[in-house]
Amino acid sequence: MNRIPPHAECADLLTEQMAALGVEVTVVDEPPPPGPRVPEARTCPHGGHLWAVPTPAQVARWARDGAPNEFGVER
Ligand SMILES: [Zn+2]
Repeated sequence: MNRIPPHAECADLLTEQMAALGVEVTVVDEPPPPGPRVPEARTCPHGGHLWAVPTPAQVARWARDGAPNEFGVER
C-alpha cells in the first residue's frame, strides 16, 4: 500500500484542505508574484513546494467581509 498520494494529487489535496477551512485557493508549484495575500510555501510529502494562493473571488470576499488574521500573512 502506498500511503503517500502521487505528487500529482498534492495540489488537489491542499486545495481541499483549504476549502475545508472555507478558503478558496488556486494551488501553484512556482512562487507566486509578491502581494498582500501571498502565502508561504508548503512542503508536500514529496519534498515539493506548493503555494495556496487565494482566488480573486476569495480575495474579493475578504475585501468585502474582512479577512481572518491568520490569512493576512500565512504562517
Ligand atoms: Zn507532492
